[in-house]
Amino acid sequence: AFITLEGGDGSGKSTQAGLLQAWLEQRGRTVVRTREPGGTELGVEIRRLVQHTEGHVAPRAEALLYAADRAQHVATLVRPALERGDVVLQDRYLDSSVAYQGAGRELDGTQVRDLSLWATDGLLPHLTILLDIDPAAGRERMAGREHAPYDRLEDTGLDFAERVRAAYLALAEAEPDRFAVVDASGTPDEVHASVVSHARAMLDA
Ligand code: C5P
Repeated sequence: AFITLEGGDGSGKSTQAGLLQAWLEQRGRTVVRTREPGGTELGVEIRRLVQHTEGHVAPRAEALLYAADRAQHVATLVRPALERGDVVLQDRYLDSSVAYQGAGRELDGTQVRDLSLWATDGLLPHLTILLDIDPAAGRERMAGREHAPYDRLEDTGLDFAERVRAAYLALAEAEPDRFAVVDASGTPDEVHASVVSHARAMLDA
């Protein structure tokens, strides 16, 4: 099974990925936990390029870099793991591109999605958990964290974050069978309980 976690900054994706991984492993599943960008050797380089390049990365260049990262990741890591029968638990996937490069950077969301589908040869998750949080609350959570992976955070205001959130919610509405929207404003345990209910439903289906 292929499970992806999506959500804005401070939505708790990493925390929830850890908790969900432990839950899955307790149920005897072999879990490959990964993330993008940066889940492969090439991806680490791409992540550095796209997130730490001084100055401006043009929106279309950014979209292509994320797509290249995704292509490599799917071809060399995700598909082989799925073929072995492992559960792939992944922090961010193509919906991130539709939300960030599409709505955030104001590219055409359908084109961004098509680019991703080409890059991955059409691989879609079985379950996408959207950790939904008010962007201001998410930022507040991030503030206490020594985060730093994203030097360009400053150039994306709350406005950007609101567009990203709205795009995620629209994606979830368009594909209700794939998406589960989880209120991410609770405690880690509360959010985990909700995440697990969706994971269980998917695995038992
Ligand atoms: O997943 P992580 O929180 O490390 O991502 C860091 C940042 O990279 C995100 O907050 C987002 O601004 C950016 N990003 C992006 N487009 C993607 C994936 C991530 O702009 N497709």
